[in-house]
Amino acid sequence: MTLLSACDADLEIAAVALRDGCLVAFPTETVYGLGADAFNPRALARVFEAKGRPRFDPLIVHIAALEDISRVARPEILPSESRARFELFSAEFWPGPLTLVLPRRAELPDLATSGLPTVAVRFPAHPVARKIIALSTCAVAAPSANPFGRLSPTSADHVRNQLGEKADFIVDGGISPVGVESTVLDLTVDPPRILRPGGVSREALEALAGTALGGPDNNAGVTAPNSPGMLKSHYAPLTPLLLHGGAEMLRLPREKNTGYLFFSGRSLGLWLARQAPSVGPDRAETPEIRALSETGSAADAAAGLFSALHRMDALGLLCIHAERAPDSGLGRAINDRLERASC
Ligand code: AMP
Ligand code: MG
Repeated sequence: MTLLSACDADLEIAAVALRDGCLVAFPTETVYGLGADAFNPRALARVFEAKGRPRFDPLIVHIAALEDISRVARPEILPSESRARFELFSAEFWPGPLTLVLPRRAELPDLATSGLPTVAVRFPAHPVARKIIALSTCAVAAPSANPFGRLSPTSADHVRNQLGEKADFIVDGGISPVGVESTVLDLTVDPPRILRPGGVSREALEALAGTALGGPDNNAGVTAPNSPGMLKSHYAPLTPLLLHGGAEMLRLPREKNTGYLFFSGRSLGLWLARQAPSVGPDRAETPEIRALSETGSAADAAAGLFSALHRMDALGLLCIHAERAPDSGLGRAINDRLERASC
């Protein structure tokens, strides 16, 4: 595995490597992706192998310009109302953390779509991702760059620690700013259906569509998902994780070798005050006791979610207690990931 920086010369190398059928991990605004040429079945097969990902779980295909959609998908064959929605959503949220499920182009290898008649497409906003994809001239299939079912990577270090030599190249472009995966929206059904909550909130999508969208916000109990990222156990740390509502979290006693991951600095402060009133709420956080956002911002909490879990997972704790986020906006994506990370 070769580590690359985000300088122009290294991005050229990454692009040529993609064209040559190599696996290239690169940053996007959501999480790091493990990229392969979407039209190269051998490269796609290596993605499934590197991740230990079952072949029934289709990949998201990334493009770097709206007009490239026609290379992989056929929005033009959608019924007129759905086609209009495609135009609306892509104009508003692309480039960005929204994946659209559309009728596929027949030429796309079955491995990219797991044989489905649809393909999931995203136009990422991250400048490094866009540059690599554009320079490669490929449509780039890129699932998250982690072993199947484990915590998603939001830094090059996370990728190196989890995939190591299984990636041919890793491009280090810093921390992924959104921190949770894209929202997956199926536009082939009416009304459109959210298959996975993510970086674009249900509220924002519904405001634009002017209608309610299908899909439960949290499919954690689903056993036969139509988006395999919705499998009950996914995004999981190795340490057992227990999820609690705010009030329940506050009542937990502090125990040794145990992690406590609060949503906000406020709830952390309240909990600390209950443990040791004499110490007061201002005591500094420790590696095993942390808040995702000091101010209680869901965007900040989402941005730091996977890195906080990676760090706590490395501490060898007996278990991690985590507090639910408020269930709206990006908080829904955070709760979805915590739900699937929990036992
Ligand atoms: P990831 O592997 O983290 O990039 O997640 C990709 C997500 O997109 C998974 O939840 C997939 O199941 C979902 N996905 C990809 N293609 C399709 C498709 N054609 N229909 C429905 N969901 C899809
Ligand atoms: Mg993933």
